[in-house]
Amino acid sequence: MKPAKALFSEVVDYLKPPPVLSLSEWVVANRYFSAEESSTPGPYNPNFAPFQIGIMDAITNPDNEKIVVMASTRIGKTLIVTNVIGYYADLDPAPILYMRPRDEDVKNFSKQELNWLFANTLSLQDKLATNLGKESSNTLNLKQFPGGSIKLIGSNSPAGLSGYAARIVLIDEMDRMDPIPGFGNPVELAEGRTTTFPHNKKICYISSPTISHTASSKKKTIHSIYLESTQALFNIPCPHCGTFQPLEWGNLRFGHCRVKLDDVYYECFNCGGHIKEAQKKIAIRSGKWVDQYPEKAIKGFNISQLYSPFSSFENIAREWLLVDKSKDIYSIMRFKNEVLGLPFEEDLGLYKDSSDVLYNRRERYNLVPMPALLLTCAVDTQDSWLDYTVAAWGMERECWIIKSGRIEGDPAMPGPWDALTQVLTKDFKHESGINMRIEKVLIDTGGHKTQHVNKYLKGKGPLVQGIYGSSAIGKPIITKAKRDTKTGLRKWEIGVNNAKTDIFQMLSTEKPGALYIHFPFELEEEYFKELYSEIKIGGLFKQVGSRRNEKLDELGYSLAAYYICEKNCSMEKRKAIMDGVIKDMKVPEEIEEEVEPQEAPSSPFDADLPTQAAPSPVLAAIQLEKPKRKQYIPGRSQVITPYRF
Ligand SMILES: [Zn+2]
Repeated sequence: MKPAKALFSEVVDYLKPPPVLSLSEWVVANRYFSAEESSTPGPYNPNFAPFQIGIMDAITNPDNEKIVVMASTRIGKTLIVTNVIGYYADLDPAPILYMRPRDEDVKNFSKQELNWLFANTLSLQDKLATNLGKESSNTLNLKQFPGGSIKLIGSNSPAGLSGYAARIVLIDEMDRMDPIPGFGNPVELAEGRTTTFPHNKKICYISSPTISHTASSKKKTIHSIYLESTQALFNIPCPHCGTFQPLEWGNLRFGHCRVKLDDVYYECFNCGGHIKEAQKKIAIRSGKWVDQYPEKAIKGFNISQLYSPFSSFENIAREWLLVDKSKDIYSIMRFKNEVLGLPFEEDLGLYKDSSDVLYNRRERYNLVPMPALLLTCAVDTQDSWLDYTVAAWGMERECWIIKSGRIEGDPAMPGPWDALTQVLTKDFKHESGINMRIEKVLIDTGGHKTQHVNKYLKGKGPLVQGIYGSSAIGKPIITKAKRDTKTGLRKWEIGVNNAKTDIFQMLSTEKPGALYIHFPFELEEEYFKELYSEIKIGGLFKQVGSRRNEKLDELGYSLAAYYICEKNCSMEKRKAIMDGVIKDMKVPEEIEEEVEPQEAPSSPFDADLPTQAAPSPVLAAIQLEKPKRKQYIPGRSQVITPYRF
């Protein structure tokens, strides 16, 4: 039960008529900006950034309960939020909750913008206690004024949310807010603080966007809320033909020589007329917000720096040329989010760089773990070394990285290849006691030193095969090995985009079992950084900056090797064979001898194994079931035996 006093004040609050002034009218009448606060000191000038008016008035319009502003930087988001606080403190006192991503942001906002607001606005000057301190009603995180208060919290310390019921909730830069373990999503927590004001609550979401919302994405982002809104765009009249239109990046035109610009203008979509920066500044004054979906319940706005009085067509074009030249995907993303106010199209949920999480969950396994049924190896060729990954696979694509290594030396010389053969012909001890061997080796022939890779592959048979990546969108990870007419070698075409998509799904799997990848303790931080070396844009994987990407490529090839082996013999069948072999391995008790204790190997790769007449009994069992195939060698035919190095 609520105390009668609180209930009474809520009823009074609800019955109170809304203020006569809209927010923009209050701002024009009351706000004054000092030189410390603004580059254009003085009273608020409604012609300076006219698009702010419609946003502000939508916020104080009693018909709107939720308002979403998805915007670039430099359009005055913070100014709008500050004005909202001033308005309610002055005309319609209420409990206000203001949330930013971090507590430090909130403190800075409190010390600067909020301080200036109360100090420089005549009607607010006597509303706060003058003593600032822990015991005062005026602290950095809580400011009380007659009839209401403002609680300021960082989404990273959500404990401050409890016990504060708010009628007005302002969520600023919400796309930088992350869920807090034990608390949940801070945006939803903040929304929940308004339940005691069902009739006159107000929730404003304001942020630059990050990633594009897709049907499969569950995360609440500024874009996901924007999609549920009226999605208003600011239309300005063309100075030549008068047609109203929103400013879009695609219509900005500029000539350039490298990063030197010339002739920057905006092209009217209707008459093709050139709209120059100065003409735009005047046209904006006659602009108006146009809802794309007026029937929707949430009032939504989207705006970019193309409208900003703090930027210009020329600055934006110049910034783009630098970003484009850098080819850095993060810079491109930032440009789209912060300059254009648009979300990045790709669902990067799977991409999220979790290299530190993976590094911290490394495990110690000295032998090939019990559930593993298959060993594969992927090799990437560089100009001066060979890079490889040995992986073990269990049911439902559970994976253990056994070894990730690098063999130094020019692949044009036999040395590195001999060393590789040593790796590929090794026996790996399984926890059950049986020996395992690598069943499929895939070597990239599409990159460096192709001729020498082909030379190595010649005569190796189906256990060691060449591959080449296809970046075509939607290409299956494996189809069929095709014979290369020049060399006679059978090679696999790998659909690298699909392979990497699956790998990122596996990397984001957090629970051991299906799709989970285990990493051995010996791997260093750099290895994990390389796994996050690419990002998916428009269905294609692109390299992030200059990070090396061999390890990610090798995981993709390892997955392809897994599928090839799985096609030859299902994992269920492998498990049955393995279980049978383990069952048959009975050690007669009477000949048991005391053996010298040996130092445990640090990884299955280093395990010291006795030489066996028939290494890898499981592989042997699989091969026995299959009729031996003839491999085409130009000029003659011959039977290839396994492990012919
Ligand atoms: Zn025109």
